[in-house]
Amino acid sequence: MALSFPDLSGAALDDLVEKLTHYAISNGLVIYPPDFKVYQPSVAPVTLYPTPFPRAQFHKGVDISTRFNDLYSRVVVDKSWLKEVIADLSKYDRDFTGMLYKTYLEAEPKIVQPVSLGLFRSDYMLDTVSNSIKQVEFNTVSVSFGGLSPKVGQLHSFLNSQGLYGTPQYYQETDLPTSQSTDGLANGLFEAVKYYETSEKTASTIVLFVVQPGERNVFDQRAIEYSLFAKGVKSERVDFDKIISSVKVDSSHKLFYKEQEVAVVYYRSAYAPSEYNHPDSWKARLLLETTKAIKCPSLLVQLSGAKKVQQLLTDRAVLEKYGFADEELLSTFVQIYPLDASEQGQLAKKLAFEHPERFVLKPQREGGGNNVYKEDIPGFLRSLDEKEWGAYILMELIVPAVHDNKILRNGDVLNEGIVSELGVFGTLLFNETDGTILRNDYAGYLLRSKTSTSNEGGVAAGFGCVDSLYLHD
Ligand code: ADP
Ligand code: MG
Repeated sequence: MALSFPDLSGAALDDLVEKLTHYAISNGLVIYPPDFKVYQPSVAPVTLYPTPFPRAQFHKGVDISTRFNDLYSRVVVDKSWLKEVIADLSKYDRDFTGMLYKTYLEAEPKIVQPVSLGLFRSDYMLDTVSNSIKQVEFNTVSVSFGGLSPKVGQLHSFLNSQGLYGTPQYYQETDLPTSQSTDGLANGLFEAVKYYETSEKTASTIVLFVVQPGERNVFDQRAIEYSLFAKGVKSERVDFDKIISSVKVDSSHKLFYKEQEVAVVYYRSAYAPSEYNHPDSWKARLLLETTKAIKCPSLLVQLSGAKKVQQLLTDRAVLEKYGFADEELLSTFVQIYPLDASEQGQLAKKLAFEHPERFVLKPQREGGGNNVYKEDIPGFLRSLDEKEWGAYILMELIVPAVHDNKILRNGDVLNEGIVSELGVFGTLLFNETDGTILRNDYAGYLLRSKTSTSNEGGVAAGFGCVDSLYLHD
C-alpha cells in the first residue's frame, strides 16, 4: 500500500517551499524563464513531494529498456523497410519528414561513419485499468531532463531526511530511488568518444553539442557536460544555425570545431521544422551526416523515432521479424491505428468519429504541442483532405491515476491534482550497417508530471514539471 501524501499547510508548507527553493537554486535544479537574462535562472517547475509508483512496474520499465534500444537498432539496420516507411510518410509531410529523408538519401552514398549513438527515452504512463505501464512514445532525438531528474530525486530525499514531510522521516529512503540519468547519458557519450578515439587512433577529441539558440533548458544539458568533463571529455556548444560557419571538415572527413577534433555530434536541436529556417540548415545536417564524427542521433535513428514506426511496431508480426514479440514488450502497447486504406485504417476512421473521446491523434512531430485530443479529432480530420490522414496515427488514450501531489511553479503552489509520465533512458552504440551492438545500457529515469486538467506534459513548453518516484508495493 502506498502512503498518502504528507498533509502540510500554513507555516509548515511555507517552510517546505522555502527550503525546497533554496535547495533547487543551490544545486542547479533551474531553468531559464522566457525572455531571460543570462544571470537570471529560476527554479524548475517541480512537485513538492515524490509521486507514488508501483515498484514492480518501475522495474519492468527498467528491465525492458535495453530490449527497446536493441529493437530500434534492428529497425535502423533493416534499412529497406525503414526507408519504405519513411518514403511513404514523406509524401504527406514533404517539408519536414520528407526533407529529413531527402537529406539522408543525399548523404547515404557518402556516409563514412557506420557507427551511431542513440540516447533514447521510452515514455510510459501507468494505466489505471490494467495497473501496468503503457508506452506513450519512444524518443530517439534530443531527449531532455536527464540532467535535472537526479536533482529532483536528491531534492525530495533531502526534504524527506530533514523531516520536512513529517518527523522523523515520512518516506523510507530506500523507496526513493535517485535517477542516475546525468551520469548514464554522459556515459553513453563517453563510450562513443572512446570508440571513436580507438578506431581513429586519435586522442583529446570533443563532443559537439548542437543546440537551439536561446535554449531555456540549458542547465539540463550543462549537467551532462559537467559529468562528461569529470570523465575527462571536453564538450563545446554550437547553435544549429551556426554549424556551417563554424566547423571544418578535413580531407579524411574528420570534423573540427575551433581546431578540436569532434568525436561525437550530439543534437539537442534539429528535431522540429521551425529550427530549419536558416538557408543553410539542411546543408548543415547533410554536412555533419557525412563526417567521421559519430552522430547522436544519425538521420536514420532520428527517423526511426517517427510515431508511424511506433504504430507499426505494435503489430506482432513486425515485432516477430525483429525477434522481440514477447509478452513483456507487447504488454506495454496500447492500440495504435494507421489512418490509411488498410483494414485497420478503415476501422480507425470509424472509431475517430464515433468514439473520439477514447483517442489522441498524432502527426509525425516531436517536442510537444502537436497532438489533437478527443473531441477535437473529428473536426480536425474534416478540415483535411482524407488523402492527408495517412500522415497521422490514432492512439488509444491511456488513463493514468490522478494524484494529490502539488506543483511548485514560479513560486505558486498548484493544487489541481497531477498525472505522471515515467521516462526510461537508455544509451546505444551500434553499427548501422552490420548491426553490431557495441554498447547497450540502461541510463536512469525521469518522472514528469502535469496538472491533471492539461492534455500535454511538456516541461519547457510550460505544461508540466519534473518529479521523482516514491516506490511502493
Ligand atoms: P511529443 O513527441 O510531442 O512529446 P507525445 O506522444 O509524447 O508527443 O505526446 C505528448 C503528450 O501527450 C504526452 O507527454 C502525454 O502527456 C500525452 N499523451 C500522448 N499520448 C497519449 C496517450 N496515448 N494517452 C494519454 N496521454 C497521451
Ligand atoms: Mg513526448
